Amino acid sequence: MDLLLKNATYIDWKTLEFSIKNILVRENVSSLTFVADNEVEGVQHGVETIECTGRLVTKSFAVGHHHVYSALSRGMGAPGETPQNFHEILKYVWWTLDKCLDPAMIESSALVTAMACLKAGSTFVIDHHASPFAIKGSLEIIAKAFERVGVSHLLCYEISDRDGVHVAREGLSETDNYLRDHQGLVGLHASFTVGERTLTKAVDLMKKHNTGIHIHVAEDAYDQGQSINKHGRRVIERLEKAGVLDSPKTLLVHCLHLEENEKELIRRSPAWVVQNCESNLNNNVGYFNGTGLGENIMLGTDGMHSDMLQSARAAFFVGQRYDNITYESVYRRFRNVHRYLSDNGFGGDGDNNLVILDYDSPTPVSHDNFFGHFLFGITSNHVTDVISNGKLVLKDRKITTVDENEILRESRKQAERLWSKMQQHS
Ligand SMILES: [Zn+2]
Repeated sequence: MDLLLKNATYIDWKTLEFSIKNILVRENVSSLTFVADNEVEGVQHGVETIECTGRLVTKSFAVGHHHVYSALSRGMGAPGETPQNFHEILKYVWWTLDKCLDPAMIESSALVTAMACLKAGSTFVIDHHASPFAIKGSLEIIAKAFERVGVSHLLCYEISDRDGVHVAREGLSETDNYLRDHQGLVGLHASFTVGERTLTKAVDLMKKHNTGIHIHVAEDAYDQGQSINKHGRRVIERLEKAGVLDSPKTLLVHCLHLEENEKELIRRSPAWVVQNCESNLNNNVGYFNGTGLGENIMLGTDGMHSDMLQSARAAFFVGQRYDNITYESVYRRFRNVHRYLSDNGFGGDGDNNLVILDYDSPTPVSHDNFFGHFLFGITSNHVTDVISNGKLVLKDRKITTVDENEILRESRKQAERLWSKMQQHS
């Protein structure tokens, strides 16, 4: 059903212009129609009207880097051995977890992730998935779950040699199958778990499907050490030589431990960088600094949560000391994901994706001071309604497409299954 957002305070996400508008939103029509006050009655018939007086309406948000696979980890017990560094965090926590995932757990993880994204105002997710012993069909499970809830997506499977040649081969073939009839990327875990053969095959797939690579880059100094020892060159030099940086669809995630020549290679390439500073703080691996990396920087959550407003605030606060960041540049990074998606022709992020905020500010809000409200006032608690591809998927803070309670009950069950399986494997 078409929607009419009546009397909304509409904020153009590009110009930050404020205006009072009646907005007609049509399912599967990506552009918006603005209706004059004297024409509202004429269009109201057969249309669901949402009274938006006093509420802010703007383009919904999108997550630049997420991990569905981590959704059932919240509150799980400590690993059998206590990790002492980044590589051990992967080994004892995440690589123990992802090896235990099965199709039912993946489906629950995707459903609860999609619900959390909508509730925090995001209608599009770029995900990087791993389930080394349940690879086949895993991307289709996630795609279907996202679509059921009402979240658009750009998925990939994180191919890696860490579990042997056979598992790497399965990752490549899952990617090839999925990309035949879905938009998506070719995922690689990180340079230090990907050998030359697998890297070459992944880049071949990237070219075959005219897409990009989605890979963790220099998240920890360990990645650089391994690259120099095994391949005689630094991570970005290695990826550049393999052709990874040639695609404007390529996503280089983290990019913390880079030398000047590597930054220059990125800056001169069409590839994108995704910053995830809360994850960097949590893993104690260092601080992101965008200086010298060019304009193609966007933000992600790295699976820690699904709240992009929180990611933007964290990037601003951490960036005070470690980055060259301003109110304006953090907003730009927060919104750059839309430029990445539209410039590359990915579908699902048109103008008919909107968020409605019940933001009753104690101070005036306008075009001139919007950034101050963006960083210090507006939170996901203000999200009341979300429109995804023209469809009302969150209404008065309740998801309209699925039974939230049933999905959460099931995910708690799946989490218990996962945790007990992990105990047997650790
Ligand atoms: Zn990640």
